[in-house]
Amino acid sequence: MISCAQAVRELWDYLDGLVDDAERAAVEEHLSVCRRCCGELEFAEELRGFLARNADEELPPDVHARLTATLHGLEGR
Ligand SMILES: [Zn+2]
Repeated sequence: MISCAQAVRELWDYLDGLVDDAERAAVEEHLSVCRRCCGELEFAEELRGFLARNADEELPPDVHARLTATLHGLEGR
């Protein structure tokens, strides 16, 4: 089983379809048992959708704060 930090790192590639079958299976296995990372997946999808729609704009402060908190949380583990 991969760690939360690994799962979140893979999440972006996963959303972009850049992972191979083994990596996708590892991410999905983790997401199936980890509620926290399920939340991260939703957040990543949200953020990715926002970035796709607003490529030239700054992140809203609340999204930026949440992204920063997420990344800092991962560093602590
Ligand atoms: Zn997790």
